[in-house]
Amino acid sequence: MESTSRKIFIGGNWKCNGDLKLAQTHCEFLNGIEFDGNKCEVAVCPTSLHLASVKTVLNSRYIVSAQNLSMFDNGAYTGEISAKMLKDSNIHWTLLGHSERRQFFHDDEAVLAKKLAQALQNGVNVIYCIGERLNEREANQTMDVVRAQLGTLVKSVGDWSKIVIAYEPVWAIGTGKTASPQQAQEVHAEIRAFLSTAVNSEISNSVRIIYGGSVTDSNANELILEKDIDGFLVGGASLKPAFEIIIKSYVNKFK
Ligand code: PEP
Repeated sequence: MESTSRKIFIGGNWKCNGDLKLAQTHCEFLNGIEFDGNKCEVAVCPTSLHLASVKTVLNSRYIVSAQNLSMFDNGAYTGEISAKMLKDSNIHWTLLGHSERRQFFHDDEAVLAKKLAQALQNGVNVIYCIGERLNEREANQTMDVVRAQLGTLVKSVGDWSKIVIAYEPVWAIGTGKTASPQQAQEVHAEIRAFLSTAVNSEISNSVRIIYGGSVTDSNANELILEKDIDGFLVGGASLKPAFEIIIKSYVNKFK
C-alpha cells in the first residue's frame, strides 16, 4: 500500500434525517472518536435547520457542512439559504450536486454552476458530487457522464483547494450495492486523468476524490486502500456507530 500526500476526507451526509435530540447524542458520540486531524478531515452535513446546534455541540476537529445552498445571493427568494448566510454563520462547507438534489430538485449543470459561483465567491468550500445512473453504466456511458459533470467544475473553479470531488455512482447510493474497490478505483483514476488534461497535473494529483455509495464499516477498510480513493461520503452509516470504524479506516492509507 502506498502512502498518500493527500489528507483523507470523510463526510457524513445526514440527508433529511435526525432531530435535535439525535443531533446532540450523535455529536457527543462523534466527539469521543479519536482520529489524527493531520491525516484525516471529517465533515458532518446535517440539515440546514440543525447546522447551528451541531456546530455548538461538535468539537472543533470536525467540519460542519451544509447540504445545499441557494443559487442566488440574498434577496426575495423565499425558502432559500444563501452562501453569504452560511458564511455569516461560520459554515464554510457545503455539498453540491448530490444525486438526490439532481433527481428531485432540478439541480442541473446550469443551476450547479450558479451554486458553485455563490459558494466560491463567499468562501464556502464544496464537496461536489458526481456519478452515473445504472442505465448509463450499463450503456458504457459512465465516463461521458462523469466528464460532463466535471466540466461544470472545471469552468467554475479557480482555487481547487476549495473542492473535494465525491464520486457517487447513483446505483450505489442507499441501495446496499457498493461499487467494488476496482470499479471505484477505475473511475477515480479516470477523473484524475481528465483533470490532468482539463486543468493540470498538479491539480489532478492534489485534489481529493472521495467515494460514496453504501459505504459501511464492512467495506471502508478495503475501499480506502485503492490508490485514488481519498476518503468517503457516507449517507446511511453516518448516523450509526459504524461511522467510527469508517473514520478510522484512514489509518490503512498510511501503513
Ligand atoms: C450519500 O448520501 O451520499 C450516500 C452515499 O448514501 P449511502 O451511504 O446511504 O449510500
